[in-house]
Amino acid sequence: MPLFFGDPYFFLAIIGLIISLLAQLNVSATFARYKRLATYAGLTGGEVARRLLHEKGIYDVVVEETPFHLGDHYDPSAKVLRLSPEVYRGTSIAALGVAAHEVGHAIQHHEGYVPLNLRAAVYPIVNIGSHLYFPLILLGFIFRSLNLIYLGIFAFLAILLFQLITLPVEFNASRRALALLEGGGYLVGEEMAGARRVLQAAALTYVAAVAVSMLELFRLLAIAGLFGRRDD
Ligand SMILES: [Zn+2]
Repeated sequence: MPLFFGDPYFFLAIIGLIISLLAQLNVSATFARYKRLATYAGLTGGEVARRLLHEKGIYDVVVEETPFHLGDHYDPSAKVLRLSPEVYRGTSIAALGVAAHEVGHAIQHHEGYVPLNLRAAVYPIVNIGSHLYFPLILLGFIFRSLNLIYLGIFAFLAILLFQLITLPVEFNASRRALALLEGGGYLVGEEMAGARRVLQAAALTYVAAVAVSMLELFRLLAIAGLFGRRDD
């Protein structure tokens, strides 16, 4: 989130900061709440992840523990599903929800789910874009080049595109997770509502990321507009 001296649209960056902060707080609070509630089945997140993978006929994905809090993820290149200690060893509603969500990503990979492949394909471009967009805009200001500024905005669009493709990937993984947990009897009754809330809170952080980037895009365009007018 670049700072520009005397930027009259800086308030957009502040709004974005508040949105992402609220989404993070919401996910932490929801996770903490359902981390305390044990499930009837009493299985750990690690056990459930392995069982769900096997139920789907996936035997080449390794489930292992990672020491990072909230560091749960599925690594498609290594075919490893890494779960944080509280998810891997936990028997809570939150633990099972998160574990099943990551299994959802492993199933997407296994089935060749198109948005997941699309996201992996645009990732290298996004990586370049995220490193270049700020230097390009800064250079645009230094050399008084509106073209460089627009090039920077174009690089920023790659980040937004990636975040947009991430939405269906995340929503779909959660949908799969809830169906698997309910279908397999891993969660029953009220437990399902809890897992749904945990996964919805997590999904909201991805929606928030898109909203924040949209605000940043408006800000960059507005700054470029001001800059262009000043040059005429
Ligand atoms: Zn996910």
